[in-house]
Amino acid sequence: MTCIFCRIVAKEIPNYTVYEDSHALAFLDIQPLAQGHTVIIPKVHAGTLLDLPDSEAAAWSLAVKRALERVDQIIHPDGFNVGLNHGEAAGQAVAHLHMHIIPRFRADGGGSMHSIIEAPSHLPVEEVAKLFA
Ligand code: 5GP
Ligand code: ZN
Repeated sequence: MTCIFCRIVAKEIPNYTVYEDSHALAFLDIQPLAQGHTVIIPKVHAGTLLDLPDSEAAAWSLAVKRALERVDQIIHPDGFNVGLNHGEAAGQAVAHLHMHIIPRFRADGGGSMHSIIEAPSHLPVEEVAKLFA
C-alpha cells in the first residue's frame, strides 16, 4: 500500500486524530498553515471527489461537518477556510481525497479563496452559462 493517507487509515503511520467514524478520519495536518489545521479523508481510497463512490459521499460530507465542529470547539478560531486542492493542477499533492479545514483568525494576514487564482475566463459568464444549459 503506497498511498500515505491509506497507510494512516491502516495505522501504519501515526496521526493526531481530530475526529473518526467508520467512514472517515480527520487528523491534524503535519505542516499546519494555522493552529488546528486539519484534513478529513474518506477511509476508502479515492483520488478526488470525482472518484468517491456516491455511497460514501454523504458520510464523508457529514464527517467534514463533525470535524469542523470539533476544531471550532477546541481552537475557537474566528472563521475557517474549508476546501479541496482537487487534482494536481489545483495543487493536490497527496492523491487521496482530503478536505482541508484551516482555522482563521482576525488579522492573521491570510487571504480568502479569491486570492488563490486570478485567471478570468475569456468568455463572459453569460456564454459559460450556455454551456450548462
Ligand atoms: P494537498 O496539497 O495534497 O491538498 O495537501 C496535503 C496535505 O497533507 C499537506 O498539507 C501536508 O502537510 C499533509 N500531509 C502530507 N503527509 C502527511 C502525513 O504523513 N501526515 C499528516 N498528518 N499530514 C500529512
Ligand atoms: Zn489512499
